[in-house]
Amino acid sequence: MTGNVTIVGAGCAGLRLARRLAEKSVQVTVYEDHPQIGIPEHCSGLISARNTKELGFDLRESFTNDIYGAKLFSPNNTQLRIESKKPVAHVMDRSTFDQTLYTEAIHAGANVELSTSVINVKGNTLFTQSKGKGGMKKSDIIVAADGVNSHIRKMVGVESKPGDFIHSYQVKAAGHFEPHFVELYFSEKFAPHFFAWVIPENEESAKVGIGCKVGVNPAHAFNAFLKEKQIDIHVKTSNSFLIPCSPPIRKLYFDPILLLGDSAYQNKATSGGGIIMNCKAADILGEVITEHIHNEAPLDAYEKKMEPIFRELELHYKIHQYQSRLGDEDINRFFLKLKDAGIEQFLSNEGDMDEPSRFVGKLISNPRMISLLPEAVKFWFTK
Ligand SMILES: Cc1cc2nc3c(=O)[nH]c(=O)nc-3n(C[C@H](O)[C@H](O)[C@H](O)COP(=O)(O)OP(=O)(O)OC[C@H]3O[C@@H](n4cnc5c(N)ncnc54)[C@H](O)[C@@H]3O)c2cc1C
Repeated sequence: MTGNVTIVGAGCAGLRLARRLAEKSVQVTVYEDHPQIGIPEHCSGLISARNTKELGFDLRESFTNDIYGAKLFSPNNTQLRIESKKPVAHVMDRSTFDQTLYTEAIHAGANVELSTSVINVKGNTLFTQSKGKGGMKKSDIIVAADGVNSHIRKMVGVESKPGDFIHSYQVKAAGHFEPHFVELYFSEKFAPHFFAWVIPENEESAKVGIGCKVGVNPAHAFNAFLKEKQIDIHVKTSNSFLIPCSPPIRKLYFDPILLLGDSAYQNKATSGGGIIMNCKAADILGEVITEHIHNEAPLDAYEKKMEPIFRELELHYKIHQYQSRLGDEDINRFFLKLKDAGIEQFLSNEGDMDEPSRFVGKLISNPRMISLLPEAVKFWFTK
């Protein structure tokens, strides 16, 4: 067996892949520019219960809360309440979650080097910098799991534009919260092209945030949101990050480099959530690389095997594009139509936060949704 793998970035995608490869006795090193795994935290830590189980995530250390549903608010406060009898999602502490992934990767035999930045890649050579010292390493396969601001994505020639991202601002806050429901607030006034959220950790603590199109100051938008909705919180910590909001990149193999995770926009444009899809992609890439190293199978099989995930992510993007084109009056009318058509019951029974293809077809063909036909037609032609 020949072939060594270097992964740039020890986020959820890079660490999950490192574990998968090390479990198959592939020699793998991960470079992470930060000195500590999971810090700074840039996540709300909300993941679906169904896929947590399917992916076998160990939440024993990071688990914070169970979520039974969501309350969605239109600009004029029409509320859609979607709820289940069982937990549909979990909230976890993202830094601790990444530390669990790190421990799993190390136990499987991966080598993780912290405080090491990859500053350039030329052919099979990585140029690194660690505590002021330069270094060089040859690698047969290089995986760019270097997140939303990926430099390697740019190096391989994938250009990005401001419209490919949402600018977020999130705080950890003390206050009074409904402990088992996520709240989403839509308005082009304070959250153009996205929404604001409250994700409770318990009755007294929540992650409260906002996403806006790039160009709008998200911290100002956040204050406008709190004022408009009269939400009274005490801010403990705050941060601001970009979230990819684009169709997934379909070309992922640039010999010897493969793109993975947020660097390849493998997250859901409807919500910004990326952990589940990034880890599913890491599992696929893990199989492809293992097959390549053991049996010389082609590495571009990664792009083909990603097809089901691409289709889900493209559907998320289509929903996002549809939503982005609605003004506040349109959203108000749309919420009322959805409510009258029985969307709350429908989504309570059929909704899926990761794979919209599981319910969009059923939604469009449901006779109760006939009044939504004009919107369905507009949605169909949304690009
Ligand atoms: C405010 C906010 C809330 C979110 N909430 C959720 C949520 O509730 N649920 C969910 O599923 N997703 C959520 N997400 C998205 C989720 O955080 C990302 O999809 C996920 O972290 C992407 O994982 P990744 O491994 O691809 O990248 P990252 O987790 O960003 O990891 C990339 C790593 O690469 C390192 N790196 C970068 N460049 C280099 C380099 N040159 N050399 C060495 N190391 C490098 C970085 O330091 C980083 O540690 C949220 C995102 C934001 C911004």
